[in-house]
Amino acid sequence: MNIKESKDKSNIDGIAYSYSTSALSSEEENRILKESIVRLKEEIERLKEPPLMVCEIREMMGKAAIIKIPNGNQFYVNVSQDCGKIYSGDLVLADQKNLAIIKKIPITKKFNIEKFVIVDKPRIKWNEVGGLSNQIQEIKEVVELPLLKPQLFEKIGIDPPKGVLLYGEPGTGKTLLAKAVAASTNSTFIQVVGSELVQKFIGEGAKLVKEIFEFARRKAPSIIFIDEIDALAAKRIEVGTSGEREVNRTFMQLLAELDGFKPLGNVKVIGATNRIDILDNAIIRPGRLDRLINISLPGKKGRVEILKIHASRMNLENINFDDLGERMDNFSGAEIKAVCTEAGYFAIREDRSKLQKEDFLKAIDKVKLEEKLEGEDYMRMFG
Ligand code: ATP
Repeated sequence: MNIKESKDKSNIDGIAYSYSTSALSSEEENRILKESIVRLKEEIERLKEPPLMVCEIREMMGKAAIIKIPNGNQFYVNVSQDCGKIYSGDLVLADQKNLAIIKKIPITKKFNIEKFVIVDKPRIKWNEVGGLSNQIQEIKEVVELPLLKPQLFEKIGIDPPKGVLLYGEPGTGKTLLAKAVAASTNSTFIQVVGSELVQKFIGEGAKLVKEIFEFARRKAPSIIFIDEIDALAAKRIEVGTSGEREVNRTFMQLLAELDGFKPLGNVKVIGATNRIDILDNAIIRPGRLDRLINISLPGKKGRVEILKIHASRMNLENINFDDLGERMDNFSGAEIKAVCTEAGYFAIREDRSKLQKEDFLKAIDKVKLEEKLEGEDYMRMFG
C-alpha cells in the first residue's frame, strides 16, 4: 500500500490511523507501519489468551477464598491482589489451570426472576373449578381469608398456615385451584416447577429459591405455587452425590424461606404433588406447609360439574350430562376437558355446528384408549 497516495484515514485490520497525505516522509511511513505491526501483535496475543472461568465466591479467607466452579465443585484458591474488595456471592474470573482468582466481574448476581419462573395475574373464577367445593372452602380459609382479612386472625390471636400442600392425582385441578385463589385475592401468581428448579438451574437452585421469595415480597400480595414439590422435598435416605447435595441445599433454602416469613404476611406458598408418599416430613411440619388438602379424582357429581364447565361454551343438541358423567368413571378434570375438545373435533369432522351425544361417546372412548395406552407404556418402562 502506498501510504502517501491514500486518504487521511486508513483501516488496517480494524485499527484506524489518521495522518496527513502530503507531508509523510519515508521515516514516518516506516514508523506508522511499525506501530501498526506492534498493535496487531498485541491484538493477536490478546486473542490467544486462554479463557478464564467464571466462578462464585463462597467465602473469603484473607488472601485466599473458597470458590464454587460451574459444575458445583468447590476449591480453596489464591486471590490476586489486584482484585480489590471481594465478598461472598461475588462473581470472579479464575485461571483455568490453578483456579487463582484474577479479576472480579461487576455482573449482578441477581437473576431476572421473570425469565426463570412464570409470573402471572390469573383470572380463573371459583365457578370455573368443578367438583371441589370442600377443597375450595378450605383453601379460602387458609389462603384467601388471611390475605384479604388479616385483622380477623390478629383479633382472634391465631396464626394462619403460611402455606398449603395440594396433593392428589395428575390433572385433578391443583394448579387451577391455586390460580383461582390468586385471582380471588388479586395476587401475583409465581409458578415454579420443582423438577426444573433442580435440573435446569444446576448449582443455582438455592439462590433462585431465595430470589423467588424476595421477588414475591416485592410483588406482594403474591402466591408462590411450587408444582412437583416432591422433586425438591422428597425423603432422602442419604445425600451422597453432588446432585443430591444440590437438591438438598435447594430444599434447605426453601425451608429457611418458609421459616423466615410471617404467617400474616402477604406471601403464601402453595405446594402441589402427585407423590405425597415420598415427601419429607420437614416440609409439612407446623409453621411450614402444614395444611394438607387432598384433591382426588372427581366422583360422578364432580364429573358432571366439570363437564358442564367445559361444555358451557359449546353448541349442544340434547346432551344428558348425567349420563355422560356416569360413563367417565375414574376420569380426571383434565381428561374431562379433553373429552369436550375431542367431541368438538368429531362434530367438526362431520361438518356439524352442533355437538351430539355420539360425539361425546366417541370422545370418551378415545380418551379412555389413550389413558390405557399411556398406562401400558408406563408399565413397559418399568419392566
Ligand atoms: P398436575 O398434577 O398434572 O400438575 P393439576 O392437578 O395441577 O395436574 P390442572 O393443571 O389444574 O391439574 O388441570 C389441567 C386442566 O384440566 C385445567 O386447566 C382444567 O382445564 C382442567 N381441570 C382439571 N381439574 C378441573 C376441575 N376440578 N374443574 C375444572 N377443570 C378442571
